[in-house]
Amino acid sequence: MLENYQKYLNFIDSKLTKFFNSQKPYIQCRKGCSKCCKMAQIPTSRIEMVYLLNGFLNSADAKTQDTVSKNIQNILSLRESVNNKKEFRYNCPFLIDDNCSAYPYRGIICRAFGLMTQNTDGKISVPFCCFEGLNYANVLDLQTHKVSEKKVKNREFPEEPLGFNVSYEYLTDKDFEDTFQFKFGEKRPLIEWFIDKKL
Ligand code: SF4
Ligand code: SF4
Repeated sequence: MLENYQKYLNFIDSKLTKFFNSQKPYIQCRKGCSKCCKMAQIPTSRIEMVYLLNGFLNSADAKTQDTVSKNIQNILSLRESVNNKKEFRYNCPFLIDDNCSAYPYRGIICRAFGLMTQNTDGKISVPFCCFEGLNYANVLDLQTHKVSEKKVKNREFPEEPLGFNVSYEYLTDKDFEDTFQFKFGEKRPLIEWFIDKKL
């Protein structure tokens, strides 16, 4: 099953690379920028979690594994202390010194984040980091929260910024399971996979 999931990942990675390359004038992603790994829920399906943990445990050194393990315990303790667990947000436990300690094995949402999305109903949305001066901020109309045609023209960008259908819902659609012959399985916020260790 993991082999087939790997084939699916290769497929979406190659698509996402093309999408990111086409949006270069608007993208600020770089190593060490980790805002999208913080104060998040990070939806993760069972197969993503198995793939992530397998890869991480087989590649990370003992010190890194120990740090991640402590991060998980700290986040779970914090989670215990809040009333609204459904809305609980946290910094990803795999994030160490602003870098992902499981980068090759990261989940699907981590691979797509940062692109402008167009959902199946046609609704376009910019990533949250746009409002922090990062992706697409150079063409954002701060009043309408939409792309400003004027800014695109004035800055003579070669291409219009585009929205892609890269929502988590779409990327984990059943069609991909049928095409690549695997199951995503149950989906949870990443930290919840460590509560009952049901993997
Ligand atoms: S998506 Fe935004 S927050 Fe995340 S790495 Fe790229 S620029 Fe930084
Ligand atoms: S798995 Fe890596 S890329 Fe994904 S949220 Fe965690 S630290 Fe960020």
